[in-house]
Amino acid sequence: KSETTNIIMQTEKYGAHNYHPLPIVISRAEGVWVEDPEGNRFMDMLSAYSALNHGHRHPKIIEALKVQADKVTLTSRAFHNDQLGEFYEKLSALTGKSMILPMNTGAEAVETALKAVRRWAYKVKKVPANQAEIIVCEGNFHGRTITVTSFSSSEEYKEDFGPFTPGFKIIPYGDLDALKQAITSNTAAFLVEPIQGEAGIVIPNEGFLQEAYQLCKANNVLFVADEIQTGFGRTGKLFSCEWESVHPDVYIMGKALGGGVFPISAVAANEDILGVFNPGSHGSTFGGNPLGCAVAIAAMDILKEESLVERSYELGKYFIDNLRKIESPDIKEVRGRGLFIGVELNEQARPYCEKMKELGILCKETHETTIRFAPPLTISKEQLDWALERIKLVF
Ligand code: PLP
Repeated sequence: KSETTNIIMQTEKYGAHNYHPLPIVISRAEGVWVEDPEGNRFMDMLSAYSALNHGHRHPKIIEALKVQADKVTLTSRAFHNDQLGEFYEKLSALTGKSMILPMNTGAEAVETALKAVRRWAYKVKKVPANQAEIIVCEGNFHGRTITVTSFSSSEEYKEDFGPFTPGFKIIPYGDLDALKQAITSNTAAFLVEPIQGEAGIVIPNEGFLQEAYQLCKANNVLFVADEIQTGFGRTGKLFSCEWESVHPDVYIMGKALGGGVFPISAVAANEDILGVFNPGSHGSTFGGNPLGCAVAIAAMDILKEESLVERSYELGKYFIDNLRKIESPDIKEVRGRGLFIGVELNEQARPYCEKMKELGILCKETHETTIRFAPPLTISKEQLDWALERIKLVF
């Protein structure tokens, strides 16, 4: 048996079966390329669900990791470390928010934002105790914790995980009237993905985000943007909310913040919101650790130095235009912003992903009928052409 087969068998034998990966083992990677144990090369068109915006093992990020690993990796927040302040300052400048709270994973950052807006509702907005409501959207994906799962509209995410956390209302994504109806004097926040990634790269109707933001402002409701998958250049803007000139009250970030190397997430907001936390009310052993901060500082610097946002914008247009030129009865729609692209099919997407793998391209179906293309933002036009030639062959 091949090494790939053995590794997959070992993994399947001892691991919980909460994923259904394509049958490929990645043992090396660099930039947009990954390699299996037999030495076959593939182009990564998924980027670990947009966590690899900088590509695999960006030299500057690996350098930052190694330098920091030789100094100090973990202090806990019982003490200060010499990387956290700079991390805060850089992320504060990027988001235009005065305060940052660091965590590790996306779901933890979402939980953090939920705690912040609930406390804000009681302390600042003066909502009666335990009455705070948060409005979310149908088709949302914000993570896998029990509370986040509580307000999912997808049954497969919820089955047999109850009882669930109360306090959430679900409205159709993009439905301004429904949002208007759902807001009460107890509403703390509206939590929204500016583009729904897991739902299949779903872009709301033009104007929805801006009008929803205005509606929130008029009702003293916080507008909370989950930019975990869409942030840091993925959609051709630094943050996807910029497509509608919205500056949310709260940013939730993760994935690419860690440069594809180290899990680090964060919430950014002004002091009137994040200032509600006091010592003892929230925390994380690894949150704000110096290794993660050093990596994130490098990742933020590279975004600017290599104009990754602008690259995503330009190359995304080019890629979408060329995908739309593919004539096939199998394709229902090509949609996307920047290098965040969904190709919706009239049938199951997985066989297409399997065929593309045979041709050297790795991508993954999302919600049955949509293929998600989200290559590293460092990809070149020539590499996109290489991919396009092969993508054409499967349709
Ligand atoms: N929010 C969004 C929009 C996501 O896309 C994801 C992950 O796919 C998450 C939250 C959860 O992040 P994590 O898997 O790091 O917990």
